[in-house]
Amino acid sequence: MVDQPYVYRRRELTEPDWRRFPGWAGVTQAEWESAQWQRAHCVKNARQLREVTGAGLGEGFFGDLERDQRERATMSMLVPPQMLNTIAPATAPEDRAFTDAFYADPVRRYMIPVFSDRRADWPSHPYAQRDSLHEAEMWAVEGLTHRYPTKVLAELLPTCPQYCGHCTRMDLVGNPTPLFGKQKFALARGDRLTAMLDYLRRTPGVRDVVVSGGDVANLPWPRLESFVASLLEIENIRDIRLASKALMGLPQHWLSGEVRAGMSRLGTVARSRGVNIAIHTHVNAAQSVTPLVARAARAMLDTGIRDVRNQGVLLRGVNDSAGALLDLCFSLLDEAGVMPYYFYMCDMIPGSEHWRLTLREGQSLQQEIMGYLPGFATPRVVCDVPYVGKRWVHQAARYDTSLGISYWAKNYRTALEADDPLALGREYAYYDPIYMLPEDGQAWWRARARRSEHSQYSEHSQYSEHGQYSEHGTEGAAVTTAAPSAAG
Ligand code: SF4
Repeated sequence: MVDQPYVYRRRELTEPDWRRFPGWAGVTQAEWESAQWQRAHCVKNARQLREVTGAGLGEGFFGDLERDQRERATMSMLVPPQMLNTIAPATAPEDRAFTDAFYADPVRRYMIPVFSDRRADWPSHPYAQRDSLHEAEMWAVEGLTHRYPTKVLAELLPTCPQYCGHCTRMDLVGNPTPLFGKQKFALARGDRLTAMLDYLRRTPGVRDVVVSGGDVANLPWPRLESFVASLLEIENIRDIRLASKALMGLPQHWLSGEVRAGMSRLGTVARSRGVNIAIHTHVNAAQSVTPLVARAARAMLDTGIRDVRNQGVLLRGVNDSAGALLDLCFSLLDEAGVMPYYFYMCDMIPGSEHWRLTLREGQSLQQEIMGYLPGFATPRVVCDVPYVGKRWVHQAARYDTSLGISYWAKNYRTALEADDPLALGREYAYYDPIYMLPEDGQAWWRARARRSEHSQYSEHSQYSEHGQYSEHGTEGAAVTTAAPSAAG
């Protein structure tokens, strides 16, 4: 037997017993498998978490959580029982080790962030932004981001059944937190969706629509079905991807009779027209792939859609090892029929520094996972570079590892650069977390922060609205980057 860095073995999926939690001791299987029950019992604050866990979690944890909500959080708390039940699955709440296990758990680390998780020195990168991918700047009509030549992102709604701490769309999605208000759509939903469809009908160059939000699981089913059915009538649309983390966070929704029947209708029409419908979900840790999640994924494949794919996010302390990524990918592929597709570098939103990996770490993870999964199921590790789009982590044009700045080129224009003859010759910057840099690089950023008169680089500043900022990079090349905003 050859010694390998990663040893493959099939692992049986398990649904942890929710009755171990005092607050759910009397919950029946029928209740647990009801989407309505799950939605009604989502945990939204420390008090409700205490009601579920009983005396299991120490008071210090709740203080840590409440302080994070007050002083750091970009997302309000919303955790469906299905997800909470996968946290610290092997430790009973009455066990003395429960608080430690809860703190250390990968799913807890991104779904229930606490103040002590965050970096005290650089909680945010100086170039962090609320809408870090500038999606709203590229709205063709409200909520429809046209960033790539042939594909668009349709943000149908600004809510989800669960809120992830690192949400890249924190500018728009979710409820306000004490620190962050949320953007609001100006148009009523019906008018917005109509405007999106009108744009797609008159834009034959678009062939691919990501139907997202938020999470499409929060749209009343008839409304979602009608929107997708309208897309299916547009001749130029050949790929439709429905974005729903709820396939994992609330599989009960996708298992409901109404949704399964509706997806079967859509799948039938799509097949007859040669259009591909896929569901794209967002799973970051192998323990989230439970039998119910696998049932939901297979139920969707049974409706005749083309695929169910996973787009995870690389997060420190959650899935930042090749073993964790491969365990997740094999659980998805072997046990749930879900295709591993992407792992994204975590985007540069405020408060995300403790989660973000360096580009070098992303490159290393890509290298380490090669060769274990089938080629078609080997996920690409990608960096979503502001104003550029997704790029494989090895595609950086150059990379200053001392300052933690990578430079990227693009090969298409968005509407923002329609009249910009230099757009395809410019370099676009992406930044590593500063605390991970060598000491000379950290010193450079500290000096730069001190020089800033307006405290816009300091950890006490406010976050700016959308904006574009051009500067000369450290080596003299023209660089486009996000507007400097804040580190707080
Ligand atoms: S499910 Fe997606 S859109 Fe919703 S909070 Fe999580 S990352 Fe954001």
